[in-house]
Amino acid sequence: MARVFVITGPSGVGKGTLIRSLIARVPELELSVSATTRRPRPGERDGVHYHFLSDAAFDAKVREGAFVEHAAYSGRRYGTLRSELERRTANGIPVVLEIEVQGARQIRRALPDAVQVFIVPPSTAALQERLVGRGTDAPEEVARRLRVAEQELTARDEFQYQVVNDRLEDAVDALEAIVRRELGRCASGAEGAGS
Ligand code: ADP
Ligand code: 5GP
Repeated sequence: MARVFVITGPSGVGKGTLIRSLIARVPELELSVSATTRRPRPGERDGVHYHFLSDAAFDAKVREGAFVEHAAYSGRRYGTLRSELERRTANGIPVVLEIEVQGARQIRRALPDAVQVFIVPPSTAALQERLVGRGTDAPEEVARRLRVAEQELTARDEFQYQVVNDRLEDAVDALEAIVRRELGRCASGAEGAGS
């Protein structure tokens, strides 16, 4: 089975930005498109950025067992669709999941071989600046995300790898090194022991 890379960490830390650069450098990676009940932001497209679902449709998918993991975050629900993950891994395509911490914990249990990377902000002030600077969330929502971030940051030591996203290029280099090492490990494992 192809590798699964979980990229987690607080909202605004730069997960999406890092993953875009990572995929530009390692084009064989594909990002799984999550489902959410939050509303699309301007410019976000259904099926591209997220599968945007009503609460009822999300519930139906939970009942069907369509999610590998799902969690509530800031009053909305988010989940990784089994179909998004499996159609790639079944074809040997390594997949990236960009998810919050509760979902990352569920993946750790469901897929113990998944590679887990926690992205750490250089400081709480920098995180706040990034959330505000991104301009996608109202001040109350930024405040709510920062409160969640405090909790999430206490979980960083649970994760196999931690990457501090201070200077973007350095963080992309670190993430790329992790991914290449783990992809290489998978390839040599497939060749069999002793080869
Ligand atoms: P996330 O996906 O974790 O919520 P984003 O990738 O949307 O975070 O990044 C949040 C904001 O921070 C964006 O405006 C992005 O351009 C900016 N950003 C990301 N990485 C850095 C960095 N290393 N230094 C400064 N700003 C950054
Ligand atoms: P946003 O609303 O900023 O797009 O995402 C909010 C949070 O939900 C982010 O931390 C993001 O990583 C996380 N998230 C996005 N998709 C999923 C998913 O499928 N599952 C889980 N558990 N979290 C997700």
